Amino acid sequence: MKLNLTKIRSMRTVTKIYAEKSSVILSAVIILFCCALAVISYNNSSSALYGSICESLENRAIDNSRFLSQVFGEKLRELEMLASDPDIQSMNWEKQQRDLFIQVDRLKVKRFQIINKDGLLHSSNGTVVDVSDREYFAKAMAGVSNITNVFRSRIDHSMVIVCATPIRDEHNNVVGVLSDTIDYYELSKILEEIHVGKKGYAFLIDEEGATVAHPEKDKILSKETSLINMSKNPEYKELSNLEERMIKGETGFGFYSYNDVKKFMAYTAVPNTHWFLALTVPKNEVFNKIESLRYRFIIVTTVFVLGAIMFCYHILHFISEKQKVRDLQRSADENYKQLLEVTEMDQMKTEFFSNISHEFRTPLNVILGALQLFELYITNKKPVKMEDIVKRIKTMRQNCLRLLRLVNNLIDTTRIDSGYSDINFQDDNIVQVVEDITLSVADYIKQKNIEIIFDTEIEEKVMAFDHDKVERIMLNLLANATKFTSEGGQIFVNISDKGEQIEISIKDTGIGIPEDQLDTIFERFRQVDKSLTRRHEGSGIGLSLSKSLIEMHKGKISVKSELGKGSEFIILLPVKLLDNGEKNSEMNTKQINKYSRIETIHTEFSDIYM
Ligand code: ADP
Repeated sequence: MKLNLTKIRSMRTVTKIYAEKSSVILSAVIILFCCALAVISYNNSSSALYGSICESLENRAIDNSRFLSQVFGEKLRELEMLASDPDIQSMNWEKQQRDLFIQVDRLKVKRFQIINKDGLLHSSNGTVVDVSDREYFAKAMAGVSNITNVFRSRIDHSMVIVCATPIRDEHNNVVGVLSDTIDYYELSKILEEIHVGKKGYAFLIDEEGATVAHPEKDKILSKETSLINMSKNPEYKELSNLEERMIKGETGFGFYSYNDVKKFMAYTAVPNTHWFLALTVPKNEVFNKIESLRYRFIIVTTVFVLGAIMFCYHILHFISEKQKVRDLQRSADENYKQLLEVTEMDQMKTEFFSNISHEFRTPLNVILGALQLFELYITNKKPVKMEDIVKRIKTMRQNCLRLLRLVNNLIDTTRIDSGYSDINFQDDNIVQVVEDITLSVADYIKQKNIEIIFDTEIEEKVMAFDHDKVERIMLNLLANATKFTSEGGQIFVNISDKGEQIEISIKDTGIGIPEDQLDTIFERFRQVDKSLTRRHEGSGIGLSLSKSLIEMHKGKISVKSELGKGSEFIILLPVKLLDNGEKNSEMNTKQINKYSRIETIHTEFSDIYM
């Protein structure tokens, strides 16, 4: 019992450790899973945000480049309109000059110029210079309106942009060129209007990679910021790479570092011009949303993980506390149960000793009483009736047999308990053996005015069993049936064939057994009526001994009973035959048994006074 409890406890500890371990693993898995989810959602949202920021900046670059192209397109269209004026077409400078003065005022431009076929330029402010080598003049003479890049004017040496358009006569022949000079700062002013975040700005570069417009004026047309110079400096490598892509006419975005500031840039070409527009903004300004998202993510995840760890810790603590309480409760229950068992055992032992003493004392008293009487007969020398002596001797004999039965039962029980009891299997007809035993006690039973009826389904069933032990079992059950059945009652012994088993039933119409005692009567020292003044003799060993003997045959015994109506004990024995090697040649064993049976019957029925 101790061993079992230790085993159960260690199993419980293992189960508990296992349960705690699995809870810790489960919690860790949940935390990791949530962290993984958070990382995935952070990545998704940051890349979505990143994508949308890049896309929106690129779109702004495209929109602004279209706007710039529109502004200069508009200027060209106005110039073309002016070129179709008859005064301008006349190529008469006086007429043209008058007209141009009016238009300079109206359109608020720096100045207009008329260039004749030979490339001689007359400015609205009166200056005359030769521009025959200028590309814009050649293009316009070829009939193409065009806008120049920024260059230094020959009139006032300032940085200008020129829009030029051909002047045609009534036959549509190009007779001269009308041009409009725009201060390049005007371009910068347009770009200043483009706001990119707080610190961002727009700039323009030309086909050579020279800065054409920039919020920092010193950078405009500066050699330092030219693409050739920048590409030589490893510090500006990223920017020069991006500008190279720009002047190829690509639209896109990228990152670069300038004076240790990481910047983000979206770029595109300005249609119908020589320029390429870039919108640039410090990276942290654009991505501060993502950055703040990251910090928020780190804080939330940390708080969540800490919370989850604390939660799991409390849950585990709670579980282990609960488990401890449960374990304590369970061990208290077990201890209480053990205490009850020990107390009950102790009580049973006390009862047994008191019963057994009674069992020993009663026959001994009877024998002593008879002996005293004999002594009296001898000392008084009175004449004694022979009948009396015989009667006393009979009583003494019966009580000696009761003592013998008691001692036999105690010895057998101890032997079985200590494993010293052998079983002597013999192949024989069990039906015949049971019938013989029943018939041999029939006279005893009839003397008590009880009817005994033997019935069988089969006449013969040869199987292996121990004669002596079956006899002990049958005699014990028949003696009990006789003991607990009153005069006029009946005892039935039935045998039925159950195939692989044989069933022997001993049924009586006696006092019956209370339902709540049916489970315990096979336990040793159990008696239904435990009082010392009980009506029936007995030690409470018989049924437990019979059960042990049946179990030695690998059989079973059960009981059905109804209080006041009777009881039925059912024995099931397995039908088996001995192997040839096991067969015993002692054929006279049966014979010896027959002789000894009468003695055994006397012993087994010694409790019953006739
Ligand atoms: P005992 O020597 O006391 O008869 P047993 O172990 O043979 O011991 O029986 C245990 C108890 O079972 C008996 O004391 C009795 O109370 C009950 N019992 C056994 N057989 C019968 C029966 N046929 N009818 C009623 N009670 C029975």
